[in-house]
Amino acid sequence: MNAVAKALELPGAFILGAGAVSSKSVGMNAELMPLVVTASEGKLAVNGSYLASINPADGKCLQEKYSDKYRDCDFGLLGNLYACEGKPGKVLEVKASRRTGEYSLVTCLRKTLENHYSDKSLALGGTFIIQKGKAKIHIMPREFSSCPLNSNEDVNNWLKHFIVSAPLICQSVLVSRDPDLDLRVEHTHCFSHHGEGGHYYIDTTPDIVEYVGYFLPAEFVYRIDRPEMTHKTGRD
Ligand SMILES: [Zn+2]
Repeated sequence: MNAVAKALELPGAFILGAGAVSSKSVGMNAELMPLVVTASEGKLAVNGSYLASINPADGKCLQEKYSDKYRDCDFGLLGNLYACEGKPGKVLEVKASRRTGEYSLVTCLRKTLENHYSDKSLALGGTFIIQKGKAKIHIMPREFSSCPLNSNEDVNNWLKHFIVSAPLICQSVLVSRDPDLDLRVEHTHCFSHHGEGGHYYIDTTPDIVEYVGYFLPAEFVYRIDRPEMTHKTGRD
């Protein structure tokens, strides 16, 4: 993430979002909830990230604070990162309760932007809290798949799914439509103060769910290290 901040010409960037840990750093595959102030002149990076892996003891979610064990600011596989200066200022406040449709809060935000700005691509980053209810998440296994995952079904069978409880702190990066950069158009990871976290899909308690979130539109979208060969598998 220090290298990302450098590429953005934003030293000391405050970064949040959704990604995977660097398996080289951590020694396994795991979900990453990045929360980092990157290094700047004379100042070391501050890494407040969380990671969630499958606990080998019971097969359940194991959420840890990154800085309790690891010292770097690396990530692996992919990262959908929102970087800002970390200063106070105007933000978008989003409050919602009860879900009446099939889409998650993040997908609703994205589709609303997509419909309203029909000729533009608009990106948002930010954080929201699921204050009440439960949510569906996944956590990748500690071991990478030994065989290729060629379909969404393959990916879903490889992932471990869980239902987790509020309060959940979620970090979202979304773009209303892909501006031909081969982007994942939305990605949200969550963590909590009760040991649950991972890749967020949607709440599972539409009648009682409550959300409050804060977002900011992006000035720029950067595509770093774009793969030469692409596919659409496992993007949901
Ligand atoms: Zn994810």
